Amino acid sequence: MSIINYKQDHPEIRDAVRKLCSNFQDSYWRDCDREKRYPTEFVSLLTQQGFLSVLIPKKFGGSGLEISAGAAVLEEIHRAGGNAGACHAQMYTMGTLLRHGLEEQKNKYLPSIAAGKLRLQAFGVTEPNSGTDTLSLSTTAERKGNNFIINGQKIWTSRAEHTDLMLLLARTTPIEKRKKKTDGLSVFLVDIRNTKGSSLTVRPISTMMNHSSTEVFFKDLVVPAENLIGDEGQGFKYILSGMNSERILIAAECIGDAKWFIEKAANYANERVVFGRPIGQNQGVQFPIAGAYAQMRAAEFSLKHAIALFESGSNPGEEANLAKLLCADASCNAAEICLQTFGGYGFAEEYDIERKYREARLYKVAPISTNLILAYLAEHTLKMPRSY
Ligand SMILES: Cc1cc2nc3c(=O)[nH]c(=O)nc-3n(C[C@H](O)[C@H](O)[C@H](O)COP(=O)(O)OP(=O)(O)OC[C@H]3O[C@@H](n4cnc5c(N)ncnc54)[C@H](O)[C@@H]3O)c2cc1C
Repeated sequence: MSIINYKQDHPEIRDAVRKLCSNFQDSYWRDCDREKRYPTEFVSLLTQQGFLSVLIPKKFGGSGLEISAGAAVLEEIHRAGGNAGACHAQMYTMGTLLRHGLEEQKNKYLPSIAAGKLRLQAFGVTEPNSGTDTLSLSTTAERKGNNFIINGQKIWTSRAEHTDLMLLLARTTPIEKRKKKTDGLSVFLVDIRNTKGSSLTVRPISTMMNHSSTEVFFKDLVVPAENLIGDEGQGFKYILSGMNSERILIAAECIGDAKWFIEKAANYANERVVFGRPIGQNQGVQFPIAGAYAQMRAAEFSLKHAIALFESGSNPGEEANLAKLLCADASCNAAEICLQTFGGYGFAEEYDIERKYREARLYKVAPISTNLILAYLAEHTLKMPRSY
């Protein structure tokens, strides 16, 4: 039974992604999760069929579509029980290169990324000591002739073992010498293919879900100056300019998860008979599922609003943040209700509820945690004092 019409926008893309996902049954994702294995086969097929390059302009070999297309791809992957966390960053990190890179840089990298010859899956921002406070990060990039020399450490750099390129934010001006708080950080497109094990060490972090996250250590890593994106010292602004698209794309994944949970819960509530009747006949079972559906729909409207504003060319900071907040809450609530509906069976691996539950939970913390979104709304929308 399908309780949700997924054909709302980009129906052809949605159909095609669902078809692709049907090659990867629940057992595939379950095995990857259990073995903490990267879903290479899935990501390769997604890349081959052009879905990871929908946002790359046509002149660089992509489909040149707008963000709603990227959102449709990611939502459908999650809606089908998969996890786009293995590859979603390519969609939003690529935007930094596209918006702020030189034409030579775009010509050099984007066609190969679109063709699947180069993977841009890693995004190195978070550090152990700075955490959410990005402006205090301490990994340095020191100019030496035609190169920058990188030293320091990142944490939670997801997919560093499954990428060729990493978008890296590093300090090019010491904190005490910067003129403005937001100055002094620079973005680099780092080709890490021949560096692992010498000047770059990648150490996997085992997490509650399969997310290929790592710690990355840089020791005198040489990056050619031609790999600096945009102006030196302006990197924080470049990263910020990509935040709206990141929020929107992650929110779409949350909506896909929420739909998956709600449909699973409703189906099970119809099928499972206890006390001589389907459990879904009990209001105590059906009302929470209906409530999760209502919450998901409201969050979805918020997401569509953010997408519409984004595509009209405005800078929907508030709406993108709202969408991320509401969609993550909606998917986590749907996860909770789904688990409760399944009773004991929800805890058994073979039903996939516990796996998806663990996966969905991440989005209240990463790539931005709920508190920081609330801080944004409090400061920028409600004009209260900055709290950090
Ligand atoms: C699985 C996973 C994958 C990730 N992938 C990447 C990646 O690919 N690249 C990358 O750069 N980062 C990545 N991250 C990092 C992620 O973006 C951060 O974990 C997140 O931004 C929170 O930072 P933190 O963990 O250092 O928390 P902290 O900054 O230590 O904060 C801890 C808690 O305190 C709260 N808090 C902190 N300061 C305030 C304040 N002023 N007001 C209110 N609350 C506050 C936070 O909201 C949070 O709940 C990933 C994280 C995880 C778990």
